[in-house]
Amino acid sequence: MDSLDDAIGYVLAGCEALAPRPVAPAAALGLVLAGDVVAAEAVPPFANTAMDGYAVRAADTAGAAPGSPVTLPVVAEVAAGHPAERALGPGEAMRIFTGAPIPDGADAVVMVERTERVDGDDGSQAVRIDLEVVPGNHLRAAGEDMKPGERVFGAGDEVTPARVGVTAALGVDEVLAHPRPRVGVMSTGDELVTGPQPLRPGQIRDSNRPTLLALVAQAGGEPVDLGHVPDDEAAIEDAIGRGAATCDAVLSSGGVSMGDIDLVRVVLDRIGDMRWMQVAIRPAKPLAFGRVPGPTGRSVPVFGLPGNPVSSMVSFALFARPGLRRLAGHPDDRLHLPRWAAVAAEPLDRRPDGKTHFVRVTVELDAGGVLRVRSSGGQGSHQLGSMARAGGLAVLPDGDGVAAGATVHVILLSEPATATIGPATA
Ligand code: AMP
Ligand code: MG
Repeated sequence: MDSLDDAIGYVLAGCEALAPRPVAPAAALGLVLAGDVVAAEAVPPFANTAMDGYAVRAADTAGAAPGSPVTLPVVAEVAAGHPAERALGPGEAMRIFTGAPIPDGADAVVMVERTERVDGDDGSQAVRIDLEVVPGNHLRAAGEDMKPGERVFGAGDEVTPARVGVTAALGVDEVLAHPRPRVGVMSTGDELVTGPQPLRPGQIRDSNRPTLLALVAQAGGEPVDLGHVPDDEAAIEDAIGRGAATCDAVLSSGGVSMGDIDLVRVVLDRIGDMRWMQVAIRPAKPLAFGRVPGPTGRSVPVFGLPGNPVSSMVSFALFARPGLRRLAGHPDDRLHLPRWAAVAAEPLDRRPDGKTHFVRVTVELDAGGVLRVRSSGGQGSHQLGSMARAGGLAVLPDGDGVAAGATVHVILLSEPATATIGPATA
């Protein structure tokens, strides 16, 4: 048997980041940057007010307090996008709204809540201020967020909504990013049918192909449906060839165990450079990985995933997803699904067999912020129902399992349920 680490290492050694290209930031969400984003201008570009209120010279508020306000004439109004047309003189105030440029001559803003408008019947405009402020009060300095020349984020960083926002704030209209890998998915097996028609004896429905296409999309890849192929050498070779010609990686499911009619194995051995592994895990023991040649002298990574539905999903999570993330340019410390410390809310039993077991569990985040896991049902590798109920995979090292209350590591497959957390206002 191959150790899990060896198998992962072998897969990653056969996957390298796709060549980066320029992308519009709005189309780059989830992509990994290959170059730094450096601020060419200051953000904010000018000093502005963080509050609605009055722009003043702080010195003119000296001694102001409730009951003994200072009164200043209001000489202008400054709104966001409409800078003042003149400077603020000594002993003057200007009405100012959030985001508006601080007028020349002003050095502070008094929030409107600490003021009272006292316009006269004669058209005179004035404001009473009952707070002494210091220079800089409620001011946002130019460049306080980002300074020219500053590297804001860069190579290896994934584009998030905030990073899309930063590029917009800086006027950057193109970033250098690794492309989303195009990933071909095929399923094999004479027993498989697609669609709702009644099953004939011996037939089952193809669930792996839609599952794997969804997993590829969830992992940030671009799924490409290579179809379902029967257990036929020529058909398998054709589908793999189409994948190698048009995709950056190919996933096939089924036909990789030791059985006589495991024709995927026959074909891949003939056309590719493959390694056939028996990984010391359960489920998902059989795994094939290697590269097959494409049309233009390049070769693409091919994953031969096991046919059992849960095995193919676990194999995807442990091997294919990290490989695809490597193609997408993610750095080494962001390839794998993290393992979180959780508490077993019930015993998770197993028998020693030299393998690490990945047990489907529900995952709940309790009111104290602790993850609690319990079995989500039958653990056979054909039982997709318990996978659909699972929020994670508990990692049980070789041995007799985990007692109730003991710590267990869990790989989260979705966000944990938070039913027992109180209202946000608590
Ligand atoms: P295989 O690896 O081809 O021997 O398949 C192992 C088991 O997984 C068999 O019970 C198959 O019927 C089942 N299986 C293979 N491919 C699929 C699929 N695409 N969808 C659902 N079950 C599958
Ligand atoms: Mg099969």
